[in-house]
Formats: sequence, C-alpha cells, structure tokens
Amino acid sequence: MLHGQKKTHDDDVNSVITPAYGGRYIREPIPKYLMPQEGLPPKVAYNLIRDELILDGNSRLNLATFVTTWMEDEAKQLMSETFDKNMIDKDEYPQTAEIELRCTNMLADLWNSPDEENSVGCSTIGSSEAAMLGGMALKWKWKERREAQGKPTDKPNMVMGINVQVCWEKFCRYWEIEPRFVPMEGDRYCLTAEEAVKLIDENTIGVVAIMGSTFDGRYENVKEVNDALVELNAKTGWEVPIHVDAASGGFVAPFLQPEIKWDFRLPLVKSINTSGHKYGLVYPGVGWVVWRDKAELPEDLVFHCNYLGGDLPNFALNFSRPGNQVVAQYFNFLRLGHEGYREIHQTSQDVAMYLSAGIAKLGPFDLISDGSDIPVFAFTTNDKANFSVFDISDKVRERGWLVPAYTFPKNRDDLAVLRCVCKEGFTRDMADMLLGDLQTAIDYFAARPDHKPQTGGSGFHH
Ligand SMILES: *Cc1c(COP(=O)(O)O)cnc(C)c1O
Repeated sequence: MLHGQKKTHDDDVNSVITPAYGGRYIREPIPKYLMPQEGLPPKVAYNLIRDELILDGNSRLNLATFVTTWMEDEAKQLMSETFDKNMIDKDEYPQTAEIELRCTNMLADLWNSPDEENSVGCSTIGSSEAAMLGGMALKWKWKERREAQGKPTDKPNMVMGINVQVCWEKFCRYWEIEPRFVPMEGDRYCLTAEEAVKLIDENTIGVVAIMGSTFDGRYENVKEVNDALVELNAKTGWEVPIHVDAASGGFVAPFLQPEIKWDFRLPLVKSINTSGHKYGLVYPGVGWVVWRDKAELPEDLVFHCNYLGGDLPNFALNFSRPGNQVVAQYFNFLRLGHEGYREIHQTSQDVAMYLSAGIAKLGPFDLISDGSDIPVFAFTTNDKANFSVFDISDKVRERGWLVPAYTFPKNRDDLAVLRCVCKEGFTRDMADMLLGDLQTAIDYFAARPDHKPQTGGSGFHH
C-alpha cells in the first residue's frame, strides 16, 4: 500500500499478511439486528454466514422433512443460471412460461386427466399455495351453484380428516369456511368415506382427501370417498366434489402404485395439488395445482393483467416468484422420465420398508405404518420401553439425526410417535447406521432403570 493511501476492507482481506479467511472481522461481533453502516468484502460475508449456518441440522440426516435435500450438479447449475427469471413476467420470459405449461400438461397426464387439452393448472410456491387455489375454486363453484338456486351462501363448510396438513386449517380461517374435521378413532388415523358423509350437508364446498398423510404417510381411500359422494349427490341433488391433497403422493402413487384410483380417473376429483419440492425431487419451493377441466376454475378468479404489453391470465396469490424451480422441475421430467422417478421412489420405499422392519425387530417399538404407501412411516413405543419417543428423538439427535417426535391429534392425542421420511439420498447404509444408533439409545435407557420418560412436545404438522 502506498504511503498515505486510505486502507480499505479489501486490503485487509487480500493483503498477504492478513489471514485470508476473514481478517479482523472474525474477531468482532457481526451485525445481527441492525443493518451495518458499512458493508463487508463478499468473501468475508460469505464465510461468516456460511459458518453460522453450520449450526443448522444437516439436511441429509433430516428424516423429518419431506422436502428435497439432494439434486444433481446439472440441476444445481441450471437453477443458478436461471435465478434471475421471474415467473410472473410471462411476456419477458415466454420460454419459462412455456416450460411451466409443459409441466402442468405432464402432470395432468400423469394424473390421468380424461382430456389434458382441457385441463388447466399452474405452478405455485408449494402445496400450501396450491391448496389455497384449489380450495378457492371449490368455494366459488359452490357459491355459483347456490346463487343459481337462490339459496344463501353465508355458511360454507369443508370436510376433511383431522390429519390434514395445517395449510387446510389456514385456508378455512383465511376464507371464512367452517372446517369439519373427522377425528381419529382407535386405529383409524385418517378420513373414511363413512365418516366424511356424516359431516356433509348442502353447505359443503368439498371434501379434501389426502394421498400421503403427514402424520404417518398413509393414503386415504379416495375411491371410496368418491363412490360415497356419487351416491350421496344422486340422493340429495348436491354436487359435493373432491380436492385431493397429493403433496407427497402425487409424485409417488403414479409410479409405485399405478393401480390405485385416486386421481382424475374418479369423476368427482376436480382438482389435485402436489409439492414439486417433495417427491417431485426439486429443491424448495415449487408446487402445482391442476383442475380436471377449465370449467372447474371460475373465470372470476382469473386476473387478466395487461402488464408490460400482454394479456396475461393469472391465478396465484403471489406476484413475483422465482422461475428457476419450475425450470428444475422440467429438468427432472426430462432427465428422469417415468422410469427414473419409479426407480428412485422404489429405492426410497425399499429403504423405508427395510428400516421400518428393522425398527419393529428392535423390541420396544410398534409400527403405526410401514412406508408401503409413500416411503414415510411412524412408530411408537410399547410396554417394553422405559423411555418415550421424545427421549429417543433427543438421543439420536446427539448423533445428528433429525427424527421428529409428536403427538397425534384428536381423539388419539394419547399416542406419541416418531416419524421417518425416506427420500432420495437416504441409503440402506444410512438406515443401518440409524438402526445402530436406535439400539445404542435403547441400551442407554436400559442401563438407567430409574429414567423418567420425557412427555410432551407439541403437535407436528410438516
Ligand atoms: C407438505 C404438505 C403440505 C404443504 O406443502 P408445502 O409444499 O410445504 O406448502 C400440504 N399437505 C400435505 C399432505 C403435505 O404433506
């Protein structure tokens, strides 16, 4: 540095005598809650933040999340090259818009739309937004029918199992719809046709059925619900439809259980949502919603923005939104095809069923589900255990595993479980390591006969 020249941050970092890692910045606290007056060199900011994030759980040991934690290098590259695409600017990025259209078409076909040309759909930020859009269409259609009959429209309700993901509770609260939950009972952990029908009346905008319950991974019997509603509608003159929340199952059932009829093969299934960032194998956040027929999406909900020079029909809660997740979804469709998705999910399922069988053999655990629907299962402790599921969750956390423990909802809030979500990147070797760590945890508590099992923890919804 020339004498008299002002020393800059970059000199600190780049000069030979200052350690390159972070120089003096790592000796001082970094700005946390107030924006600093001056900035930092990019390398230093990068190192400081990356280090802080090491404290987060390791996403690859995260058996709690449904969300994709591994993608191929080519997908990462493509995503970082398309970070600047804004999904809403369909006029500026017409090819991104075209790719979105191709993806919805592929999904409509995957879900056996009777006529893909006539199906409509769009990408969203996740299943939660997709569920809001599907639910709104149900509400508007119900209102149209009621108004045409000169009947009141002030008391809409929606019927679903108590095992719904929290997005449906939000939907009902935000759009002022009475949620009617079928509670759990004994070893019935989800919605059944028989229980659903008991809660339906003329003000029911629709029934939500779940393909892949977040509590234990099981599929609800959508066909049975469909058949019961066909009968009920014929008897009463109502037109109660079904929306399928296939956040996980929408990308699993078509590949692993193609014989299960849960999709547009059933006449009352009007719309389906899924999460591209779960078993669609894309990093967060992308979701999808598809309607079987344009007629199921009220024109009233579609905004025709004359924006930056084009008429752009749009149905979404967000405006600007990243386009690169949609690009990554299309990458997976091209890269994997039917065969690739099938193979990856079959592997996850094989590992899930291997792990659940291994857990059942350990002794103090009973399975609630085994991973044979989506590769997700839940298990609980039995009377051979002197510990709780919460103890186990904490104990395996010491080894880095994230295996959540939570209680079930009404009327099974006496039941607490652990849940494993098996995804691409979770190998049979890792399953063996987890089994080993579970055995170590069992031995640890066995050596402490006076241990008082930890209770509590709150409900878990992801
Ligand atoms: C994950 C999940 C959701 C919410 O999906 P996001 O993509 O996280 O918004 C809704 N329903 C079910 C059944 C889910 O598993």
